[in-house]
Amino acid sequence: MTPEHWRLRRANDRLIGFKCRSCGWVSFPERRKTCKRCRAAPAQFEEIQLSPYGKVLSYVIQQRLPEEFESPLAVAVIELEEGARLYGHLVETSAEELHVGLEVEADYRVMYRDEGLNVYSYKFAPRRNVAHDPAD
Ligand SMILES: [Zn+2]
Repeated sequence: MTPEHWRLRRANDRLIGFKCRSCGWVSFPERRKTCKRCRAAPAQFEEIQLSPYGKVLSYVIQQRLPEEFESPLAVAVIELEEGARLYGHLVETSAEELHVGLEVEADYRVMYRDEGLNVYSYKFAPRRNVAHDPAD
């Protein structure tokens, strides 16, 4: 497996959403008791594998952060292909490239270390056209 595949599979392992059986709304990252869209209570949710691909709905660029964070740091609301919305850091991009509607892909990685423990978070990078690997 190429590093790219491995990286995507790691993200896939953790991108589990909860889809309302009544209306199809996707809850993420946690399973809720009631559906935010159709108000079913208690809602019946089924687990679905979310796509790591989505687009930027809105974003801010943070200029001043504690020194353990890289800055400036872009933080965005991302909508995944299934409609789930989440909050994530954007990496491998620039203020010039960043815009609403930018296509991104999820990456699950260590965000920082806290008292010896790794703290994980999703990050999103612009979706590049990945060249096909002839070794596949
Ligand atoms: Zn619903």
